Amino acid sequence: MKFPIYLDNSATTPLDPRVVEAMLPYLTQHFGNPASTTHEFGRIASRAVEEARAQVAALVNADEREIVWTSGATESNNLAIKGAACAPKARGRHLVTLQTEHKAVLDTMKELERLGHEVTYLAPEAGGLVDLARFEAALRPDTVLASVMLVNNEIGVIQDIAALGALCRERGILFHVDAAQATGKLPIDLAQLPVDLMSLTAHKTYGPKGIGALYVRRERSVRVASQMHGGGHERGLRSGTLATHQIVGMGECFRIAGMEMASEVPRLRALRDRLWAGLRDLTYLRVNGDMERRIANNLNLSVALEDCDALMTSLTDIAASSTSACSSGSAMPSHVLQALGSISATTLRLTVGRFNTEEEIDHAVRHLRHKLEQCGAGKRATAA
Ligand SMILES: *Cc1c(COP(=O)(O)O)cnc(C)c1O
Repeated sequence: MKFPIYLDNSATTPLDPRVVEAMLPYLTQHFGNPASTTHEFGRIASRAVEEARAQVAALVNADEREIVWTSGATESNNLAIKGAACAPKARGRHLVTLQTEHKAVLDTMKELERLGHEVTYLAPEAGGLVDLARFEAALRPDTVLASVMLVNNEIGVIQDIAALGALCRERGILFHVDAAQATGKLPIDLAQLPVDLMSLTAHKTYGPKGIGALYVRRERSVRVASQMHGGGHERGLRSGTLATHQIVGMGECFRIAGMEMASEVPRLRALRDRLWAGLRDLTYLRVNGDMERRIANNLNLSVALEDCDALMTSLTDIAASSTSACSSGSAMPSHVLQALGSISATTLRLTVGRFNTEEEIDHAVRHLRHKLEQCGAGKRATAA
């Protein structure tokens, strides 16, 4: 067993060795610029880019012409939201989103507010899911776009994208979905889902960092104003020389996800459930977020012990993610848990991945119990 045990797979994943293998030739002999169509170097790179585009499109059941390469989900969110809000003939200046979105959505919305747009930030229910009636009530005749993530990166809850999208479509409102945490964990069928724009990234699905894509629906001729001007790459939507090796890596990791998701998800669920089974008798632990409508690999726990800030730094054997209600600690308070009304405790996000083993989970349980008991010893548990 190697230490620390990596249990932070929602922050990023290690690269699958098959992805590295696929990328390597495009860092060495196949170095051509995919835009150099006059010679073989460029044509080889261009073919690789288009094959990867088809692989990414296939995982979400889209047409490859609907996939635009970006540097990751942050850029995709910026392009989708600013691009739609600032497109010529946008039908208004109002946008709708959730308080529990990723900062790449929330900070983009704040920037639009600064530029004179109006944004409604909806609070979710206690379990982290948005109420459909509340969402519907927020939609207005001047709403140009709504943005709701498919899977929350902190608590792993799955929003009802089909129902939310249908409410937008009835009203002619564009619907954007940040799916950075969903690929390889949930089937996504854009031929069926009423979604106009979807942000994707490679590095949460065993691919390289710094590459992502934005899905832009063709059939409704969704208009997005470019945010990056230059050589007119990607049909003018996103200029910049394509990062062939990164793109090949994203194609390969999405291909593997499509092939292995059906067998991988139950394995991840079993590991996550084993982790929780080893901890759940500790009465000061509580799960944040709905446990049913949740991806298979996520466990997000509140630790209701006083003065537990030092807990995270003492977790030497595992690598996990933590937030704290008290900003004096090393970790920042979480805007997601605050929106859920869960602000009184240290929280611990444990996310398992493709390369975790049962032995690692068992060790993590022993280690966590030991550290939690140390931290709780002589201290009073706060109200759970
Ligand atoms: C990781 C993440 C992002 C940011 O993606 P990058 O590719 O790192 O820019 C955006 N949204 C969600 C939900 C994420 O989990």
